[in-house]
Amino acid sequence: MYDFVVIKYSEIGTKGKNRKIFESKLMNNIVLQLNHSVKVKKIYGRIIVFPKDNIKIDKKMLYSLKKVFGIKSISPAIEVEKDYNDIKNKIIWLLKENHVESGTFKIDARRTDKSFPIRSFDLNKKLGEDILNEFNKLTVDVHKPEYLIKVEIRQELSFVYFENIECFAGYPVGAGGKASIMLSGGIDSPVAAWTMMKRGLKLNAISFYSPPSNGEKTIFKLLELSKKLSEFYPFNFYHYIIPFTEVQMAIKKLKKDSYSLIMQRRSMLRIASKLAWHTGSAALITGENLGQVASQTLENMITISEATDMLILRPLIGYEKLDIVRKSKEIGTYDISILPYKDSCVAFLPKSPATKSFVDKIKLMENKIEDIKTLELNALNNSLVYIIKNGSIIDNYVFSEKEGLNNE
Ligand code: ATP
Ligand code: MG
Repeated sequence: MYDFVVIKYSEIGTKGKNRKIFESKLMNNIVLQLNHSVKVKKIYGRIIVFPKDNIKIDKKMLYSLKKVFGIKSISPAIEVEKDYNDIKNKIIWLLKENHVESGTFKIDARRTDKSFPIRSFDLNKKLGEDILNEFNKLTVDVHKPEYLIKVEIRQELSFVYFENIECFAGYPVGAGGKASIMLSGGIDSPVAAWTMMKRGLKLNAISFYSPPSNGEKTIFKLLELSKKLSEFYPFNFYHYIIPFTEVQMAIKKLKKDSYSLIMQRRSMLRIASKLAWHTGSAALITGENLGQVASQTLENMITISEATDMLILRPLIGYEKLDIVRKSKEIGTYDISILPYKDSCVAFLPKSPATKSFVDKIKLMENKIEDIKTLELNALNNSLVYIIKNGSIIDNYVFSEKEGLNNE
């Protein structure tokens, strides 16, 4: 069937040296995300993906390619000989194979190999006529054709294709540094993770849960989310799941219910910042959204982020909830996010979180918990670490077993 896939990518905003980096990362990521089942080659501003022996270019492969960030569109193509009849026959075969029997088309030929005797203009005309003769329900429309049939006659490679499957574009993962996503079981944080991956960030995930009141099922849900995200990720995706119950109990003991959510969030940030050092992350990412819930007011965000010096990215801050929901459905995390199992925060949610809070007041309360630092360190050391690749868990261990710098 198809011989290879032609990849278009957008170089907008990438020039000179950056463009070279963009291209080499993209090629590398394509190979990794498709589990080394393909070889790639760069030809005149396109990347050509060749399947390795016996591997078919099918829906599954195209679906995997669609998830590689940096790709603008993909087109399964057929190689042609530099021979008019071969070109014509392969176009006819391509249209029949795809059940294109009626509608409008246009031939768009490009000949950069001048040793081929027919000029692009004449090739368009001649092929157009032959296609019209072959399919009596097809007509030509040069302005808005339903099927734009591309013919490329190049020195290195000549081919035909007509499909142009739009992809997500963005930057190749790894082109923009590394950060940690604070991944709850909700709808927002997986979308925030996806959004920043698409901007080229390498990511790992940090989640807090409260065993035993929410244990196995919460872990299952969190891992389902990171499995889904890992489909867009060419490297090993590390997910740190941190038991938060003891910290939460200590905060609860203070009996300052309306501030407990803010204190929990501050504690989460302190623990996550420690982990960020361990993983070489330069920033934390959250799914926060201004004003969506009472705890997400500007004042509370200021009080919460004061707990760390790290840069906090909030890619969804100004989004409409409906748009976030739509996105989560598109990337496939929605159905997992709406599973009923609670992440730690919901389980301990105070009835009326404070909407105005002050750093000094909060710090005084925190100081009343003598061993907060120890509790936080214990939580970190008891974290479960899962390594996920292409939708499957490939390894897991407890954090303290392998503590040390993790550069992956
Ligand atoms: P989400 O849909 O991501 O849960 P939300 O709108 O429900 O977001 P909150 O529950 O207030 O908002 O959480 C705000 C952000 O704080 C989350 O998007 C997430 O980044 C982080 N967060 C909250 N709870 C946890 C948790 N248990 N583990 C890790 N991060 C968390
Ligand atoms: Mg939530």
